[in-house]
Amino acid sequence: MINSLQDAILGITEAFKADSFGEKINLGVGAYRDDKGKPYVLPSVKAAEQKVINSNLDKEYAGITGVPSFTKAAAVLAYSSSSSVIKDDRLVITQSISGTGALRIGGEFLARFYPSKKIFIPTPSWANHNALFKDSGLEVEKYRYYNKDTIGLDFEGMLADLKSAPEGSLVLLHACAHNPTGIDPTEEQWKQISDVVKVKKHYPFFDMAYQGFASGDTDRDAFAVRYFVAQGHQLCLAQSFAKNMGLYGERVGAFSIVCDSAEEKKRVDSQIKILVRPLYSNPPVHGARIAAEILNDPSLNKQWLGEVKGMADRIISMRSLLKENLEALGSKHDWSHITSQIGMFAYTGLTPQQMEKLAKENSVYATKDGRISVAGITSGNVKRLAESIHKITS
Ligand code: PMP
Repeated sequence: MINSLQDAILGITEAFKADSFGEKINLGVGAYRDDKGKPYVLPSVKAAEQKVINSNLDKEYAGITGVPSFTKAAAVLAYSSSSSVIKDDRLVITQSISGTGALRIGGEFLARFYPSKKIFIPTPSWANHNALFKDSGLEVEKYRYYNKDTIGLDFEGMLADLKSAPEGSLVLLHACAHNPTGIDPTEEQWKQISDVVKVKKHYPFFDMAYQGFASGDTDRDAFAVRYFVAQGHQLCLAQSFAKNMGLYGERVGAFSIVCDSAEEKKRVDSQIKILVRPLYSNPPVHGARIAAEILNDPSLNKQWLGEVKGMADRIISMRSLLKENLEALGSKHDWSHITSQIGMFAYTGLTPQQMEKLAKENSVYATKDGRISVAGITSGNVKRLAESIHKITS
């Protein structure tokens, strides 16, 4: 049985397909689109793929933890080359079936070895978090995150819930570009979250599905993870290369655990291998080889960083354009959240009834929770989108 979100997204796709209106807009998709509304293969990915093909590698199995040149570089991207976890050789990292696979390995590992089985996730969160942690054998609990009155972060609620959670709980944190709200804590707020997590001896599990894609800067988007590491937290991390490299269907990701020492690393590494082997033996190599080329070849890396910034900038400029168009139409509502939010999605604050009107009367399709994919907005459709939103909100 499919869950309600999948149901909702499938419903949107079906309704969108069935609509014969030439200027219909689909804002339900969770993948980047260019300014013509088309899927985008990054030129750096095409170049890296060509390099991989030209090198004529064999198709033998990777080891259980994947392609080492990829995992090493993925660790540096997340934690930075100067990080003590890399210098002290205390990071366990394994390639994974994109971000979902990384989260699932983490869920399975924690369910097996971590004393508490309770994992706290934000409300709302990416819908799959609930399902995948439950299926891993964890008990999923919630902490407050979104304040619908301010269309912003419920920071007090979040801290209060983290404080009242049983000591030593697992806490899932979106590292950047929170999905679905696009609302991230500020650096100052991250510091306070780190303090509470430390005092309560909670174990942080970071989900970083959008590094670079949020702000356009891979270092800036890694702030929370690196800050927590610098504060001495032992944590684990799920990375995805679906969005920032546009490698969606190649399923490239990594799961890592920050250990106490090189000695602990050895033990954890061996348990990760024991866990992965009966799941899928070893991960696919092609996408990881592409990502490894991009991360390890200095000129391709530079090109990629420019392209990630290009995607992030297009999204940021579509947010501004949407807000400007709404204001130009004379909308009396405060739309500042559209530009203060970050990442692929905007949480508009529109009600399910308004979203239904948007679809039925204006041929604009998105999920009922008011989340729109900013990646689906283009300079060609933003005006009509603003007019449609204005119509249903005035
Ligand atoms: N975490 C979050 C918050 C996401 O939004 C996504 C993608 N929608 C993922 C993880 C995982 O995606 P993938 O498995 O495609 O890397």
